[in-house]
Amino acid sequence: MAKASKRTAIQPTREENYPEWYQQVVKAAELAENSPVRGCMVIKPWGYTLWENMQRVLDRMFKETGHTNAYFPLFIPKSYLEKEAQHVEGFAKECAVVTHSRLEMGKDGKLHPASPLEEPLIVRPTSETIIGEMYAKWVQSYRDLPILINQWANVVRWEMRTRLFLRTAEFLWQEGHTAHATEKEAWEETRQMLDVYAKFAEEYMAMPVLRGEKTEGERFPGAVSTLCIEAMMQDRKALQAGTSHFLGQNFAKASDIKFLDDTGNTQFAWTTSWGVSTRLIGGLVMTHSDDDGMIIPPRLAPAQVVILPVIPKDEHRGPVMEACESLKKELSAITWVDGQRLDIHLDARDLRGGEKMWHWVKKGAPIRVEIGPRDLEKGGVFYARRDTGEKAGCSREEFVGKVTTILDEIQDGLLKRALDFREANSKVIDSVDDFRAFFTPQNEKQPEIHGGFAYSHFCGDPALEDQLQKELKVTVRCIPYADEAEPGTCIFTGKPSKQRVVFGKSY
Ligand code: AMP
Repeated sequence: MAKASKRTAIQPTREENYPEWYQQVVKAAELAENSPVRGCMVIKPWGYTLWENMQRVLDRMFKETGHTNAYFPLFIPKSYLEKEAQHVEGFAKECAVVTHSRLEMGKDGKLHPASPLEEPLIVRPTSETIIGEMYAKWVQSYRDLPILINQWANVVRWEMRTRLFLRTAEFLWQEGHTAHATEKEAWEETRQMLDVYAKFAEEYMAMPVLRGEKTEGERFPGAVSTLCIEAMMQDRKALQAGTSHFLGQNFAKASDIKFLDDTGNTQFAWTTSWGVSTRLIGGLVMTHSDDDGMIIPPRLAPAQVVILPVIPKDEHRGPVMEACESLKKELSAITWVDGQRLDIHLDARDLRGGEKMWHWVKKGAPIRVEIGPRDLEKGGVFYARRDTGEKAGCSREEFVGKVTTILDEIQDGLLKRALDFREANSKVIDSVDDFRAFFTPQNEKQPEIHGGFAYSHFCGDPALEDQLQKELKVTVRCIPYADEAEPGTCIFTGKPSKQRVVFGKSY
């Protein structure tokens, strides 16, 4: 027998070139590809089903916390965006602007924009301003509050350096926008939605996250405070996976969202906004995948089990296919998490066995089951786990009986593996020398690979944060939630620090 080859399904490996490995996994798993328009992507069926599964779970969580969905327009009048000074400053540099309403054929045989619009329209980069305009009309009395609305939509931010899912010029997301009568209630909402995101990330994506607050420099333009969840990818960089903003009365004042309180006084409302995007798919890839491709946590997988018929000769086709169909039917009737039925895919394509098997390895299906003529005789199946590579045979009955247990094991195992990885690459750092060493590349060929998350005391000076970003490409990822904040002194300035913050390099 030839020695097992080290050749992996994905080239290069993570070790060799992490950014390129990522692109290759996305391609091999058929999640998405680049579109003819720079920075935009085509999301393919396997990737889109993954997004639909994320949507389904999140949408239920939003509804359980009292929100309903609505839809607001894609275009925002330029004047709306101008209403909140910081908001304009933050978004102006990445806005797509519609200036004409028509195309006209020129004498040169080419189409030219014609009929300039009186007021240019902005393709929404986020919808605070247009939703605020509507809320101002809808809110008169304290009885009209709270408003708890979410929208599923696409937005456009004309980003310069783009990467499939992680940062695209157009992305799909949800944006929650709420208005409240009191500051306390708006704060509770902001924290509640961050908790919803953290729960989703950990329980469904098997992606451990830190919850915390952003520093001033990383705050959403116009917000009083931005809360975030941050995850560590396998190159030890941080991914900001979701944000929940406490907007104070800034946007209410800009959009004039006022109400009469129960004592007859006019007050401005308190608002929040919160969002997660298709970036989560990039996070999923970077958290779990390996050098053979994608590994999808079962709770979000477009198919938890893929059945692969093994048909050595034509005469086997009938009985093997029959056994596969009936197994599919039996498995599809099993309910699992949240009362959802299992999604089972039967791959009946006329492809060589090895090719078909690798196809599903690269796509990350949690369990593959093979049924061939020999299994039929024994009433058995042969199955393989994507996460551990473990392969085993058992009776069909036994497999049906334990399939959800295996799926639970995979789900829990992935979360544990990711959590162990993050912990192994997080360090409490108390000196500037150690800090620099931690963030200095350990592998010349891969300048991006460095220590991970550093927990250090920091005085909060924005100028210092700026300097660290320029010098080391390191930023404060978040001021983490802490049960008991442990005060200390800033490792850079010796000034007092309320608690340790998390430093990291980020996407
Ligand atoms: P923000 O409105 O800036 O707080 O962003 C809301 C969510 O969208 C966050 O979870 C971000 O991670 C995500 N996001 C921001 N910009 C992009 C982008 N260019 N591509 C994909 N996701 C993004």
